Amino acid sequence: MVWQGAAFSPLQAALALATCGIPVCPYHYPRMDGSGWVASMVCSCDRPQCLQPCAHPLPPDGLAAATTDCDRIRFWWQDHPDANVALVTGIVCDVIDTDPDTGRRAFKALTRRSSGLGPVARTGTGRWLFFTAPSGRPGAVLADGDDATTRPGPLVRWRGLDGSVLAPPSRTLLGNSARWTHPFATELPDPYELAQVLTDAVTATDDQETGRLARLMAPVRRVRSRAALG
Ligand SMILES: [Zn+2]
Repeated sequence: MVWQGAAFSPLQAALALATCGIPVCPYHYPRMDGSGWVASMVCSCDRPQCLQPCAHPLPPDGLAAATTDCDRIRFWWQDHPDANVALVTGIVCDVIDTDPDTGRRAFKALTRRSSGLGPVARTGTGRWLFFTAPSGRPGAVLADGDDATTRPGPLVRWRGLDGSVLAPPSRTLLGNSARWTHPFATELPDPYELAQVLTDAVTATDDQETGRLARLMAPVRRVRSRAALG
């Protein structure tokens, strides 16, 4: 299956993922609210001060409701055709989730290589999602975005067992859709190899970022050595 851009409807996207064995769950979504003086977009949960607009589960039991059952999925999206699509990581795929700048640099480096690049999506907020084979491990923060200097450092999260991400064509409150930058496919790269390339890409181009290199590489090395032991 090749799936690019944001061309699929949320229901089609959810069914496509479920068919690959990836559990999905409907999430809240942006909705036009015309009740005030000026029409505006609100989270479909209708809480005036929603803390995670368009990024929290619709079912009462939360992400635990995620399923690959196509009948259940059709039922959910019949009720909420615009619902965002969350996918559960750790079973068929892991996802390395980066800030916009880190992702752009990593994507550039990965496209120059002959292998190692799997499906890549960009979220409506500009984050990059690099899909890999499952590591069998829980998620981890590889770089926390913390930086003592004026600009924030790289923010890199590994989404593994029990994790989730919003898949294309999920939308933000501003209406920006997640899209596939490199098409979705079930052939997935080795997670540790991709994490290594990603951290190299982030750090190789800037000699002044040796501090960041050390911070980024340490967790990857730890995860790698734990995997080698286990
Ligand atoms: Zn909400």
